[in-house]
Amino acid sequence: MQILRTVAELRRWSRKQRGGGKRVGLVPTMGALHAGHGSLIRAAAASCGSVAVSIFVNPTQFGPSEDYARYPRTFDADCALAEAAGASAVFAPSVEELYPSGAATFVEVEALSQRLDGKSRPGHFRGVATVVAKLLIAAEPDRAFFGQKDAAQVAVLRRMVSDLRLGTEIVVCPIVREADGLALSSRNIYLSPAERLQALTLSRTVRQVEALAAGGERRAAALIEAARQTFAVEPEIRVDYIELVDWATLEPVETAAPGSLFAIAAWVGATRLIDNTVLS
Ligand code: AMP
Repeated sequence: MQILRTVAELRRWSRKQRGGGKRVGLVPTMGALHAGHGSLIRAAAASCGSVAVSIFVNPTQFGPSEDYARYPRTFDADCALAEAAGASAVFAPSVEELYPSGAATFVEVEALSQRLDGKSRPGHFRGVATVVAKLLIAAEPDRAFFGQKDAAQVAVLRRMVSDLRLGTEIVVCPIVREADGLALSSRNIYLSPAERLQALTLSRTVRQVEALAAGGERRAAALIEAARQTFAVEPEIRVDYIELVDWATLEPVETAAPGSLFAIAAWVGATRLIDNTVLS
């Protein structure tokens, strides 16, 4: 597996793969790789002859009081996981490589970037859209793989790829969970044992809402109220949002329809966690 450090190296690598008749897959990550990332890399390797995993803790998507400095960085273990899952290259640039001195160009996906996580994390999706645009322009992948875990991010990036007419197909992979339901996240390591238990409220609520919807409850207000009641008995958890939205626009819906996104964000101690389900 090759380690690429510059945009020029990534572009050269990608063009060589395509020149050799291979389809190129890209899996953008911030490192601290876990089995959720592994599932994306395996999905990429299953449909693309050459897969690059980018590992870059992107400063522009973190707010000033967020965890950029202490975000886990585990490069050697990440490379081992990426290679075992089928990656042929890791792209791990420096901050200066992706944001040259004086960088003043950003990608803003209007409206969508203000919804769900964008509401409580101003500038977050601007940072995400900007870095993913840079990666897609550099790597020119046929397909890029993202997790449904970050469902709002998927909506923002689909819009961006469509608006900018980038030639990459966005592939969305299912949420990978621990045996007890907790969605895997690089931030789960911040949780104390007590918080780890409290964090199960998110996945429990997702399952509860799935069951209510499967039982015929379609009213958004009823689904959201049921979810709020589940959180009400966990006073240590502070809900950021509980919403039922159209997955493409992230606008709230009144009635659940197939494809509606039910999404939760909540603070467990100092750790912000998210979870969601797409209703069938
Ligand atoms: P991150 O490193 O947190 O930026 O995540 C990189 C990619 O992995 C994103 O597309 C995430 O949605 C995806 N991802 C993170 N956690 C999971 C999970 N538990 N299951 C599936 N995909 C995930």
